[in-house]
Amino acid sequence: MKELVNKIKELKERKNAVILAHCYQNVEIDDVADYVGDSLYLSQMAAKTGAKTIVFAGVYFMAQTAKILCPDKKVLLPNLKSGCEMADMINLMQLREFKRKNPNIPTVCYINSTAEVKSECDICCTSSNAVKIVESLKSPEVLFLPDQNLGRWVEKQLGNVKVITYSGYCPIHHNIKPEETSKVKAANPDIKLLAHPECREEVVSYADFVGSTTGIMNFVKKSSDKKFIIATEKGVVDRLKRDYPDKEFILVKENLICESMKLNYLKDIYESLNNETFEIKVDDEISKKALKCIDRMLEVSK
Ligand code: SF4
Repeated sequence: MKELVNKIKELKERKNAVILAHCYQNVEIDDVADYVGDSLYLSQMAAKTGAKTIVFAGVYFMAQTAKILCPDKKVLLPNLKSGCEMADMINLMQLREFKRKNPNIPTVCYINSTAEVKSECDICCTSSNAVKIVESLKSPEVLFLPDQNLGRWVEKQLGNVKVITYSGYCPIHHNIKPEETSKVKAANPDIKLLAHPECREEVVSYADFVGSTTGIMNFVKKSSDKKFIIATEKGVVDRLKRDYPDKEFILVKENLICESMKLNYLKDIYESLNNETFEIKVDDEISKKALKCIDRMLEVSK
């Protein structure tokens, strides 16, 4: 494994490449990644990098976003099967229908959406900045897509904005049932539950802290507690266990695994860099329109 890590590092230097890795990736990828984090952080790093090539260890919409932000760079996704089920729950036709039924309302799309969908939305958001983004619109109503759970959570945080949500969801987070959560909480009454806002509203209602993957990791970093219950994808728990061996983490439910995120291993990163596969391209016109939607978010998030 060390040999492969060294080979990837050498290739990275030779090809002037950076590796961006989402924190749901297999944890071994961190050994070669330049940046590891959530979607907002990785988009910001993609926008800033001076490298010629970006290898995106993540899912398709993330690599597409990097390509939109860096049209002159080569963006590689190691495995073309790495999709996001939530992003695929809304296409352009469905977006137009959603807007037609709710006319003249600003549209916010979660970054977990395709380039085409972004190209017809007003502003993008991530789970780190969704509240701030919706608030920045200063509108009494917004359309929010594709994630119904994140949209509802934002509405609750703000209290003065009607958030009209699309019916999408993340199958991993949505699959955490309120009764499962209350059972774990009841068995561990003194342990804080940290949940991702893609979880159902009832699940989130049991949480002591709600935040993005980065938010959850920062909460653990700052807390003096020794035990936590975590309600998000297993990759976050793998990293927490590695970084805080003196603390204990209980995943709220077994098998909270996004299979698409787990398609990459070190050998795939090596092959991707070595063979320059698979290059992600986005239609010029769609890219320009989607860029406005993403840039507006990055501007508000500064
Ligand atoms: S965890 Fe959910 S939202 Fe994230 S990539 Fe997987 S399916 Fe998409």
